[in-house]
Amino acid sequence: MADSPIRVRFAPSPTGPLHMGGVRTALYNYLFARHHGGTFVLRIEDTDRTRFVEGAEEYIIEALKWCGIEPDEGVGYGGEFGPYRQSDRMDMYIRFVDQLVANGHAYYAFDTPEEIDAKRKAAEEQKEVWQYDATTRNEMKNSLSLPSEEVESHLVGGSPVTVRFKMPADEEVVFEDAVRGSVRISTKVLDDKVLLKSDKMPTYHLANVVDDHLMRISHVIRGEEWLSSTPLHVLLYRAFGWEAPTFAHLPLILKPTGKGKLSKRDGEAGGFPVFPLEWTDPKSGATASGYRESGYSAEAFINMLLMLGWNPGTEQERFTDDEMIKSFSLDRVVKSGARFNPEKARWFNEQVLREQSDADLAAQLKPLAEERNLNLTDEQLLMVVTMMKERSAFLHELLAADYLFNAPESFHEKTVKKKWKEQTPAIMAELMVVLEGVEPFDEATVESEFKAFLEKKELGFGAVGPGFRLLLTGEGGGPSLFAIAAFLGKEETLRRMQVGLEKLNTNG
Ligand code: GLU
Repeated sequence: MADSPIRVRFAPSPTGPLHMGGVRTALYNYLFARHHGGTFVLRIEDTDRTRFVEGAEEYIIEALKWCGIEPDEGVGYGGEFGPYRQSDRMDMYIRFVDQLVANGHAYYAFDTPEEIDAKRKAAEEQKEVWQYDATTRNEMKNSLSLPSEEVESHLVGGSPVTVRFKMPADEEVVFEDAVRGSVRISTKVLDDKVLLKSDKMPTYHLANVVDDHLMRISHVIRGEEWLSSTPLHVLLYRAFGWEAPTFAHLPLILKPTGKGKLSKRDGEAGGFPVFPLEWTDPKSGATASGYRESGYSAEAFINMLLMLGWNPGTEQERFTDDEMIKSFSLDRVVKSGARFNPEKARWFNEQVLREQSDADLAAQLKPLAEERNLNLTDEQLLMVVTMMKERSAFLHELLAADYLFNAPESFHEKTVKKKWKEQTPAIMAELMVVLEGVEPFDEATVESEFKAFLEKKELGFGAVGPGFRLLLTGEGGGPSLFAIAAFLGKEETLRRMQVGLEKLNTNG
């Protein structure tokens, strides 16, 4: 792995649970690294202590683990470019910012937040927008506008000081984005961003660029919301005299309506998760659902994310992990927003579920069945899987047919009305006699004896099947009737028929 110069990173801020858009960013980075035999780094960007949320870093690491997109290097994984948590790298940033001040690309600013606010308000009153930039910096209190003695006295006197980037007054910044192509922007609209705050903490921009350089990141693959910061980053690389990495900005994930960015609230309103794992907010105690806890397999979740912003150029939608790595490329990442469809998430889960062998599913189902005190033998678990697999998208749905485990309390009204005829009770009584003699009471034998009964009585399936199903399950439809009977066993089958006949006769 270390042979490849390709090094990418996922650089989340621990400000809360990782949104599925964040997981997609991690996934694309991971796939790109794997595809090129490169290295995938996890860096935690926690310089903004005001937004720090307890437990978020652990959540991020666990979510990536569950998804199977584990870093090669980073927080929790080690590596030779560490430390990988920005709060553990604080000294480095100050050193680099000094370098920028020394070579004239950054300057000290002594304005208080109140003074800056006053400027902004005054401009607002004139219906103008004010920003700290090449046109306004001279009217502010900084090392470019003040005489050097005054600057000196501010610096030694301990006034609050920030360091700002000196944005060129009028220049066109051009960079190639691997997804969006050529991006151009005039520095006239860009402001002198703070690089180092008055508490000596670096801002995101400074720490991000310094770390990407020191960690030898070759490709910065991140969400579209960072596109507007990229010109500044490009200029920072230049100011440091460093080569900039290749940038690739991923499209937004949109609401199911296609209007606007997918948010936590959309998930709550639509009853679908937007987070990989369940998350309980440490302050409010409120819980948000996760894909894992909702019964999705990590494989399905990842496959769904793969297709949310990337297309292979073919009709293929279902990708195994290996296929994803083989097929992924940045030039097939789409430019426009990717609309999230909760139905599609379910579809992917269904595909992955059905690819698994019945025996594997039965083994996975066992703890769920135990949790529900269902007391099923391995053979019964396998029968449940065989019956329910084609009707389920989730593991837990394999246990959704309650009639398999409990005799019906009521009978599907419409089916009773349509199919429970005057002669049905007598036919059922005769069928009971036949079933009594079936040996062994397995699916194939029940089926052949049932068919022989139809033939002998010269009855169509429709005259017997629906009534039989009603008695066993209370339902009008479901998996094979003979499989259900075999699963219940002879004794329970006959008991349900007896009880059902009594109930339907008194009701009817
Ligand atoms: N810390 C930023 C975030 O939380 C990282 C952005 C980037 O990848 O540059 O998304």
